[in-house]
Amino acid sequence: MNPAEEALSRLRAGNARFVERIRSATPTAQQAEAITLPREQKPMAIVLGCADARVPAELVFDQGLGDLFVIRVAGNIVAPSGIGSMEFAASRFGTRLVVVLGHTECGAVTATVEELLRPAGEQSPNLSAIVERVRPAVAPVVSGCGHSHTDAIVPDAVRANIRHSVAQIHNGSEILRQLIRDDGLKIVGAEYDLASGQVHFLDD
Ligand SMILES: [Zn+2]
Repeated sequence: MNPAEEALSRLRAGNARFVERIRSATPTAQQAEAITLPREQKPMAIVLGCADARVPAELVFDQGLGDLFVIRVAGNIVAPSGIGSMEFAASRFGTRLVVVLGHTECGAVTATVEELLRPAGEQSPNLSAIVERVRPAVAPVVSGCGHSHTDAIVPDAVRANIRHSVAQIHNGSEILRQLIRDDGLKIVGAEYDLASGQVHFLDD
């Protein structure tokens, strides 16, 4: 198994443990283990996740200190600093898997859908910067749905936004494209379900 596939299977197994823990009320043996502080980091995956307080990547994938290189920002949007962080981790630590981790009921996606349906006018320029990065992903979903019910649009909009971020990373970095071509790097989209705790990898 190459490093990207191996990291993916470790993340799947970790999320299965997390979901198991939600379902069973008793703490697992692993939760009682002592914490060891790693001297060095050797992250198996880079995660671009949403800043939503309910979706910390280390917890939902049941991973320890040093295992994941996590970038979090509202709406899991792609900005140059995020791509630079990914390039750093991929080059410095040899990490060969990038996961864009969106989630159901994302507030940044919902705000963008609402802005497209009912433009509100003046907003903080900093908040607008987030909406503007989500907009290109979500606009075709809103215009294609033929109605204006936010709740019905958001699920598809969330997945479109995850796929858009995957494409943005791919298009935004020659370093990462080269690693995809020559060294087995993979970029995948995933959606965390707030109701079940499950992570669904999008192109499974
Ligand atoms: Zn979110």
